[in-house]
Amino acid sequence: MNKKPKKKEGIARLMELAGTKRSGLTGACILSVLSSVCKIVPYFTIYRILKKLIQCYSAGDSFTFSEVSTLVIVTAVSAVLYGIFAYASAMLSHGAAFDILYELRMELMEKMGRISSGYYTANTQGGIKKLLLEDVEQIEIFIAHSMCEVAAAVATPLLTIIVLFMVDWRLAIVSLLPILCSFVILAMALKKPDGARLQKAMAEAKAKMEGTVIEYIHGMSVIKIFGGTGNAFKRYRTDLNSFTETVRETAYYNANGMGLYYAFFGAQVLFLLPAAIVMLGHAASYAQVLPKILFFLVICAGLKEPLENMMNVSVDSTKINVGLKRIDELLAEPEIELVGSGKELTAFDISFENVSFAYPGSGTNACDHVSFRLHQGSCNALVGPSGGGKSTVAQLLLHFYEVDEGQIKIGGVDIKEVTHSELVSKIAYVFQDPFVFHDTIENNIRMGNETATFEEVRAAAEAANIHETIQALPEGYQTVVSDDGGLSGGEKQRISIARAMLKNAPIIVLDEATAYADAENEAKIQEAFSRLSKGKTVIMIAHRLKTIQNSDNILVMESGRLKAAGRHDELMESCELYRDMVTANERRDNWTMGKETEHDEA
Ligand code: ADP
Repeated sequence: MNKKPKKKEGIARLMELAGTKRSGLTGACILSVLSSVCKIVPYFTIYRILKKLIQCYSAGDSFTFSEVSTLVIVTAVSAVLYGIFAYASAMLSHGAAFDILYELRMELMEKMGRISSGYYTANTQGGIKKLLLEDVEQIEIFIAHSMCEVAAAVATPLLTIIVLFMVDWRLAIVSLLPILCSFVILAMALKKPDGARLQKAMAEAKAKMEGTVIEYIHGMSVIKIFGGTGNAFKRYRTDLNSFTETVRETAYYNANGMGLYYAFFGAQVLFLLPAAIVMLGHAASYAQVLPKILFFLVICAGLKEPLENMMNVSVDSTKINVGLKRIDELLAEPEIELVGSGKELTAFDISFENVSFAYPGSGTNACDHVSFRLHQGSCNALVGPSGGGKSTVAQLLLHFYEVDEGQIKIGGVDIKEVTHSELVSKIAYVFQDPFVFHDTIENNIRMGNETATFEEVRAAAEAANIHETIQALPEGYQTVVSDDGGLSGGEKQRISIARAMLKNAPIIVLDEATAYADAENEAKIQEAFSRLSKGKTVIMIAHRLKTIQNSDNILVMESGRLKAAGRHDELMESCELYRDMVTANERRDNWTMGKETEHDEA
């Protein structure tokens, strides 16, 4: 059963995530409250000492230390206890934060392994990275620091107010008046209807801008090759402008309310002084009133800090709310593994029956009432203009997305009834832009079959035409490579073919690479492709038509629709789109050859 997250928010949701580690957090909060008590006690004892001093001075009495020794000891002990409680609280909260976040990170990583691969194509790399790194980190900071501050921020002012009323209720009311006013102003400012919308818009604009920056940096090499720097930069600039605009709008929106709030919040002295003057005027003796006034002046300055903490904590908790929401969204993603009822695939013909699909949020069908049948062991090609729906067909076959209409069957079994692991074990997908992990070449190939021996890895590399290249490296199969270093695009493609060889799946989906155009690499890749495809049901997403002319079946796709299907000769007769594409391809090939001949003759 798919776990449905309850709709809790903020600290309540955090406590839910904390699970068994909740007691550590509660302990940290209690210690934090105790440290607040110890922080306030010295104010009170110092007031009592001061009162004694002034009374003795005005009465002309002599003052001995023994009269205040208990108060001095209490002051010193509470200062020491404050340090001990604050330290213990920080230790406990940090420990709990690391434990909670460790479990949350593990849960997220495990979840990511179980959800549909469509999630990764639909969400930018930047967004996922932000969720796993920044959102989780922000929660870590909140639990380690702010949770205890919440406890202290509530306890300290409450205790202080009690002490104030114990000393003098009239001055207590006067010094609380500006704070009450500032809270009323703040509440009115927060109640304005657009506040929450602007906060949300600002967080979203920031996330979008950061996602674009990361994508821009990641894709820089591709952007440069295809000369798209201007376009990509334009996207970044648009996102940056929209972020700046929301920041400005939020700042203007909050300016009046926040200005007034801060003006009142720190105005205790302005309220206290006139009250003090009135009190002094009516006092029987200065010695009675003066210590109280001094006490209020000192303590009111100290009251500001915990109240400000409370404000910061409430801002922090709205910040983590956005991150928590994103985490909950990921945790709520349907788990593809659980979709199937567990049927096994034993035959490998593929049929699409009236399949329609539109990407989430897109109004138009990327796959529009498509029907075809591919026989087991046949070699098939998907051709058509860019954006025609070829990759979508391949992704639907891999169950990256649920179809909106129709059925996709392998060997007569609807793929909805097959578990994800069964499906991916029967299909090898060679991506156009294959990924190489930061590991040895041997382990990179072994990903196709974890139990393969070194001999099998080597045989797969030989069949994929990459063995000699690997041998030429100083550390051979033990050479550590990574996606952005060590191997050319064509070499990475052949590593990924070797993986697929090792997997030995009965269905192969090949996304033909176009970027690695040098003739030697291309010939090697083609040879490796044809070895890999032998005896398998093959779907090849073809960009160059020369390579697929001998296919058993060619499917021509345009605007999500299947325009025609058949062998090369049949399509040349019956399908104008196919004929035009072949002519355009031939013209391009001749032009390229002409350039090469010219070059050779020169
Ligand atoms: P092809 O492989 O033939 O170039 P695709 O299957 O990639 O075509 O795309 C078909 C249509 O679906 C296009 O209009 C494309 O813009 C859209 N599309 C592709 N991938 C996504 C996606 N992840 N989200 C939204 N739309 C997409």
